[in-house]
Order: sequence, then C-alpha cells, then structure tokens
Amino acid sequence: MKLMSMLGDVVGSLFKKPFTEQYPFEKKPAPESLRGKLTWDASKCSGCMLCVKDCPANAIELITIDKANKRFVMKYHMDRCTFCDQCVVNCRLKCLDLSNEQWELAALSHEPLTVYYGRDEDIQFLLEKSARPGAEAEAPCA
Ligand code: SF4
Ligand code: SF4
Repeated sequence: MKLMSMLGDVVGSLFKKPFTEQYPFEKKPAPESLRGKLTWDASKCSGCMLCVKDCPANAIELITIDKANKRFVMKYHMDRCTFCDQCVVNCRLKCLDLSNEQWELAALSHEPLTVYYGRDEDIQFLLEKSARPGAEAEAPCA
C-alpha cells in the first residue's frame, strides 16, 4: 500500500514543474531590501570620515588624496563587512548604499574582496605608493 502511494507520488511528480530554481542559469531579481555590496558615490562625499568611525567591522578606509578638491579613495574590505547598513544610514550626504543587485560576492581568493572606489588616477596613485619598497600600508587620513 505504502509502495503504491510512493509510486503514485513519483509518477505524479514527472508531470509537475520543479520547484527548484536553476541558479545560476536562471536568476530572479533580489528583493529591494537585500543588503549586498557597498557602493559609494564619490562625487557627494565630503570626507567627513563618519562612515569609517561608525563601521563596527573596520571595513571602510577613506584615504584623502586632496581634500580641497574632494579627491578621496575608499578602500572597502568586503570580507569584513557584516552588511549592517550602519554606514549607509549615518552618511548625511547619502553617498553610500548596499546594492541589491550586486550580491554574488563569493570569491576563491582574498584579492577580489578588497575593493577600491574613486577616480582611476587616484586609485593608481595609491596602489603605486603602497607598492614602493619600504612603503607602509596606507593609513586612512583625517
Ligand atoms: S559618511 Fe558619507 S560623506 Fe562622510 S566620509 Fe563617509 S561617505 Fe563620505
Ligand atoms: S555595512 Fe556595516 S560593516 Fe559594512 S561597511 Fe557599512 S558599517 Fe561597516
């Protein structure tokens, strides 16, 4: 009796659409409220450092290249981020957001989990500076 019932389920399921999603071949849009990768709008940033001070995970560094001309580089340590949203809520100039589109963040190495935001030439300058022999790891400037 039990076997017949199981067979009925098996045969019946052959004609039903599967409930599973064929990820990563099929992707549904993430909910609006999903907290993914941190994004930063450099053009709005005043360099106040509030986000750096408020981050409980020490996941943000803001390096000042030229404060008068609002040239900053943000170094985001995605592997430390807890996606708590605190920096986003506390930024008075609304520069920060946790993207609900960039959420596939797994990586096989550490490198892609450190993200630099800012002008290309500023990032280049910073990377070259830190690669110089004897250069100390860059510290966030106030
Ligand atoms: S809190 Fe906002 S304005 Fe201040 S440094 Fe961070 S991103 Fe820039
Ligand atoms: S979301 Fe939270 S942990 Fe991530 S950078 Fe912002 S304050 Fe830090």
